[in-house]
Amino acid sequence: MKDYKAITQKYEIDVYPRRDIVLVKGKGAHLWDDQGNEYIDMAAGISVANVGHSNDKVVEAISKQAATLITCPNTFYSDTKANFLEKLFSVVPKNFTKAFLTNSGAEAVEAAFKFARLNTKKTKFVAAMKGFHGRTMGALSATYKKEYREGFEPLVPGFCFVPFNNFEKLAEAVDNDTAAVILEPIQGEGGINIGQKEYFQKVRQLCSEKNVLLIIDEIQTGFCRTGKMFAIESLGIEADMMTLAKSIAGGFPMGALLCSDKIQVEKGKHGSTFGGNPLACAAGIAAIDFMVENKLWEQAEAKGKYFKEKLEKHTLSKVREIRVVGLMIGIELKDKSQPVLVDLLSKGIVALPAGTTVLRMLPPLVISYEDLDTVVDKLVELLS
Ligand SMILES: *Cc1c(COP(=O)(O)O)cnc(C)c1O
Repeated sequence: MKDYKAITQKYEIDVYPRRDIVLVKGKGAHLWDDQGNEYIDMAAGISVANVGHSNDKVVEAISKQAATLITCPNTFYSDTKANFLEKLFSVVPKNFTKAFLTNSGAEAVEAAFKFARLNTKKTKFVAAMKGFHGRTMGALSATYKKEYREGFEPLVPGFCFVPFNNFEKLAEAVDNDTAAVILEPIQGEGGINIGQKEYFQKVRQLCSEKNVLLIIDEIQTGFCRTGKMFAIESLGIEADMMTLAKSIAGGFPMGALLCSDKIQVEKGKHGSTFGGNPLACAAGIAAIDFMVENKLWEQAEAKGKYFKEKLEKHTLSKVREIRVVGLMIGIELKDKSQPVLVDLLSKGIVALPAGTTVLRMLPPLVISYEDLDTVVDKLVELLS
């Protein structure tokens, strides 16, 4: 058999902390490696495969679109893009009136920052400590982790960080030059830190008073993950812009920036070659249809509750705290999570870290109760 690991190590820039298996196939909440081993996927590619790997509807839509029209310049209209936009706006919060389509999360964040400066004529941004918004220069400027930023400075000027869920500190940081505040409803990379409703409501009010735009990053929390179509529904606020990506198109690369009618952008001010291409749009239509038809937010809510209750029946001596919203699961350990992740993988479970001590689990929302039982059993073995 070919040594895929060696070939990859030889040719690819080695920026990723590697897991030691070669994945060749996925279906629903299961993955297979090149040795024929099967895994329960509790990562979904970091909340990408919410509708399950190789979802039948998504596969069919991509295949059909690929045989019809793969690429279409954004300077032309596209039937598939129009259908996607209609579908997207049937599920997003009603205050959003326009979208800019991208290929990734970071690109959606970049668009948000550009549009914020353009519309407010102000330059500064306030972001949260432990927040994550992507790796391009602008998105990285709003990303807190030192290791991600080091070596790339100077980043985009005008960004500052405040503690999450601390309204007073945020209010102190907002000044007359602040264009926007950017926050995740639940910090994903930062360790599954749950945003408080009261905090977000105060931030919303402050932003409105000071003519500062509020950007909500739902790249990880969006599309049913937290038990709602979008996490913002639980916060009782409206954002001025919202970033989406990851699970938007069933695993196909795509992102979107949603804008309220406060945001106006002139022709020629921004653009993308591939953003909103027919293949991505076809996949997106199928993914959103699947979510709505299967009420995937309800499944996430019920399965998350089941998982948490089941896990909490056991005394887990190595666990500090379990944080669960929908199927967004953070298990904070008293020690480093890395050895546990390695053990889980050897027991056939793919999970994720978030920071150094949090085990993060973001399974496909179609995962079976039986698989959740298996995961609980293995966790109990490892964490008691
Ligand atoms: C993954 C992620 C991003 C970046 O998305 P990419 O597609 O990797 O550029 C931004 N914000 C949040 C909250 C994310 O989880």
